[in-house]
Amino acid sequence: MGLMAPKTMLHELTISELTGKLARREVSARQAMQACLDQISRTNPALNAFIRLDPNRALADADLADQAIAQGKTHAEFPLLGVPIATKDVIAVKDQPLNCGSKILGDFISPYDATVSRKLKEAGAVIFGRLNMDEFAMGSSTENSAFGVTRNPWDISRIPGGSSGGSAAAVAANLCYGALGSDTGGSVRQPAAFCGCVGLKPSYGRVSRYGLVAYASSLDQIGPITKTVGDAALLLETLAGHDPLDSTSVPQPVPRFTGELTGDIRGLRIGLPREYMVGGLDPEVKASVDASIRHLSSLGAEVVEISLPHTEHAIATYYIIATAEASANLARFDGIRYCKRAEGADVIDLYSRTRGSGFGEEVKRRIILGTYVLSSGYYDAYYLRAQKVRTLIRSDFVKAFESVDAIITPTSPTPPFKIGEKASDPLQMYLMDIFTISANLAGNCAISIPCGFTSPSPRLPLGMQILGPSFGESTLLRIAHAFEQSTPWHREHPPLDFATKS
Ligand code: GLN
Repeated sequence: MGLMAPKTMLHELTISELTGKLARREVSARQAMQACLDQISRTNPALNAFIRLDPNRALADADLADQAIAQGKTHAEFPLLGVPIATKDVIAVKDQPLNCGSKILGDFISPYDATVSRKLKEAGAVIFGRLNMDEFAMGSSTENSAFGVTRNPWDISRIPGGSSGGSAAAVAANLCYGALGSDTGGSVRQPAAFCGCVGLKPSYGRVSRYGLVAYASSLDQIGPITKTVGDAALLLETLAGHDPLDSTSVPQPVPRFTGELTGDIRGLRIGLPREYMVGGLDPEVKASVDASIRHLSSLGAEVVEISLPHTEHAIATYYIIATAEASANLARFDGIRYCKRAEGADVIDLYSRTRGSGFGEEVKRRIILGTYVLSSGYYDAYYLRAQKVRTLIRSDFVKAFESVDAIITPTSPTPPFKIGEKASDPLQMYLMDIFTISANLAGNCAISIPCGFTSPSPRLPLGMQILGPSFGESTLLRIAHAFEQSTPWHREHPPLDFATKS
């Protein structure tokens, strides 16, 4: 007889395990929500993943789901019926606070649902709480939040990644069954990697951005952070699709992603970009990705070397385009249309006092950078040139995907770092995005999945990124799922030895 597997607690279930139990009426939505709320009370004082939470409302919404189940509504019709899901504080949920990790929005309450929030609700999910993030999604560590840093559940002296650090920490510590984040340059994938979760950035245009507070509109996508690839596929099925309210969402049929998870990747061609195994890559990250590549070939994939020659320009290109778009998008936070208004002698004084006191340092740095690269005399030298390089980066991928089905890289060049370690050096922080930002510049889809741990002390999760062509999520998910199901990494939970006992 083998060893007994440790019993999985209710809050530790995946979405698909929970929906099974809900459908069989073995648990109620209220019990599932209560399990999350209990886990939040034990761990959130240390983690600071949730920055707003209304437990009574969450339980009342769970009761509504239980009533729907009692009335005979099924999970075939409403695939997320009764599942507690939490959202990053940059996605609008009607009647919930919307702060974008900033103090500038004061006590703003969203008057409407983002399309993704509406779709989750229509699928029966119970949306609750607001998850911490870098202010306006600018950052890689969640240290740039006006609500304080979020801590990594695997080691609370470390950052959880960013900017969707609250979402990843919450999923990893089992405070919710799944979460939404947003990814402009890696903000779903990198925190997922740092916390040991699955993070999916859909292709640009796959998921509506309506109701996502814009950072850089040509790069932003909303994506799920989940405990497994199967759950990511399930959430993507719900979130994806054309939306007349977002003119950049693409009118393409949405495949049944969960049906793609066959476990069979024989014959698929996987590319390894020679430019990505660069110096500066942490040896443990490199070792785990190398081992994962060997594992994929043992599953029958054919691994070939490819080239993405313009990769070296990706960070510079991103930080010109993203800041330029941010400087325009954030102009609306002026104290007149939105925000807690500061008093001023005249309108210019009012704007500058509102913005000067409301925005944090990193947001101000990016608005200034973005305004500079768009200003007359510099527009051609920076912005226009960056757009041309963006086209070259995109063509690298188009060319690569003529001969391979997917591309593998590490998600981040290092394991999760210590709080404060890079906070005073923006360039060091920007380098964290080296593997993730090209997918946003090119519009491709990409996923980060757990692929190992650092040495026993401290034991920190590591992530591998799989990139696919635009609208190639099906193959991406198939590879990710086959890898996950044949490796042990996703089954581990952080020890949470800091949690208060109950
Ligand atoms: N870390 C990157 C930045 O600071 C990406 C952020 C994101 O994807 N929202 O811009």
